Amino acid sequence: MLDKREFYIDGRWMGPAAPRDCEVIDPATEEPCAVISLGDQRDTDAAVIAATAAFPGWAALEPAKRAEYCAAILDQYRARKDEMAEAIRAEMGAPIKLARESQAPCLSWHLKNFLDAMDQIDWSRPLGDHAPNDRIVLEPIGVVGLITPWNWPMNQVTLKVIPALLAGCTVVLKPSEEAPLSSMLFAEFVHDAGVPAGVFNLVNGDGVGVGEQLSSHPDVSMISFTGSTRAGIAISKAAADTLKRVTLELGGKGANVIFADAGPKAVKQGVLHCMQNSGQSCNAPTRMLVEESIYDQTVAEAAEIAQGIKVGPTAEDGRHIGPVVNKSQWDKIQSMIERGIAEGARLVAGGPGLPEGVNRGYYVRPTVFADVRNDMDIAQQEIFGPVLSIIPFKDEADAVRIANDTPYGLTNYVQSEDGAKRNRMALALKSGMVEMNGTSRAAGSPFGGMKMSGRAREGGVWGIEEFLEVKAISGWS
Ligand code: NAD
Repeated sequence: MLDKREFYIDGRWMGPAAPRDCEVIDPATEEPCAVISLGDQRDTDAAVIAATAAFPGWAALEPAKRAEYCAAILDQYRARKDEMAEAIRAEMGAPIKLARESQAPCLSWHLKNFLDAMDQIDWSRPLGDHAPNDRIVLEPIGVVGLITPWNWPMNQVTLKVIPALLAGCTVVLKPSEEAPLSSMLFAEFVHDAGVPAGVFNLVNGDGVGVGEQLSSHPDVSMISFTGSTRAGIAISKAAADTLKRVTLELGGKGANVIFADAGPKAVKQGVLHCMQNSGQSCNAPTRMLVEESIYDQTVAEAAEIAQGIKVGPTAEDGRHIGPVVNKSQWDKIQSMIERGIAEGARLVAGGPGLPEGVNRGYYVRPTVFADVRNDMDIAQQEIFGPVLSIIPFKDEADAVRIANDTPYGLTNYVQSEDGAKRNRMALALKSGMVEMNGTSRAAGSPFGGMKMSGRAREGGVWGIEEFLEVKAISGWS
């Protein structure tokens, strides 16, 4: 078992102020794979003090110099990317192929996109020809607290740490206590890239400990959070007394609207996307809305595809899906499957219990419900497991009504060969992102939600601007 009981503060690894151990459980084996420490207020304060001291020097660097340091982090990742994939596999249960091909490479994809986006940031510019002595200057907001979840750990860490550093902020990262190992490896990359001491700090801890301490800390200027809507609300309340900026990337309950004129791959892609990462993605298309005229055949096709999805050991190569992250998520997903049955939805694939032949690990059967009504709990609540709800609709207006009838507004999907209809749908859907006909957003496109899915955008130039203050100066010569 790995001993990872140190925090990265002020450029070095150091033990916690008081020992409080926490085991990291490999969800495929239910065995501990590492032990970490959970920090307390003294550890949080030490990290904030280091970040505060480092801020003036880091903020004063030329943006291009900060970009050089970030490029050096990318070099470190490239040299150790297999280690990163293995850390993610062990801590949150992604099968090794998914960890190598999707989870870990998020670091390089996003980092490169941010470096490209730096060209679009105008750090200092005149307001306009009408006001020659007015200048608009962008400045880093200060010390930022970054709080991340476990489901796509390197995706979320990179989407926060890199734009913060590029903007000139100094950072205290609190990764999920479920998946801290990838973030600790990331801290090694930052260290080996030569980033000055105090610019990046990492303290492990739980939400009600280090998470809340950062959120209410008077010397932290901003919290960037990704996780559940419940925690996003708690963080907003904790941050209110210090009026710090809070950006939130929260849950989702995406609709995938499949019209009768959708292409032949639409159903298969929709089911596989919902089940990817064992359904643990905030933007998963968990509600499949199907036009009535193709409803029965679509239900049959979706059931067959789900029945063909294999679950399997995370260390084994292959396209199977892995376990869910922990016992409490497994229990919650089981109770939602039972709830769907009790609500009268028709189970057409999967169901409660462990998959056949599995006797350890938090594995869930890929499950599909048909005849779901949108007011059922399985259609309204984020399940965060491999569970798909299929809901019929009559026409375009009905599809829009059902898709938007959710507290969430992260990503919706539309499948139709009719371009004009797709465009109308894209504009009518209340979500931060709409992806159509199997396409996904291009590099540098903003990621984020409306309604209870959060506020603010990550990725590309938008992601860097979240960490900047706008200063308006008049009388500039
Ligand atoms: P979670 O909210 O339980 O935890 C996320 C992080 O917040 C962890 O680091 C946790 O320690 C911390 N935290 C928890 N309570 C806190 C509090 N009161 N104060 C401060 N910090 C606190 O979420 P999770 O279970 O780790 O992740 C799953 C959730 O994340 C899902 O709801 C999913 O939809 C969401 N998510 C959203 C996005 C997005 O970009 N919109 C991306 C991935 C995951």
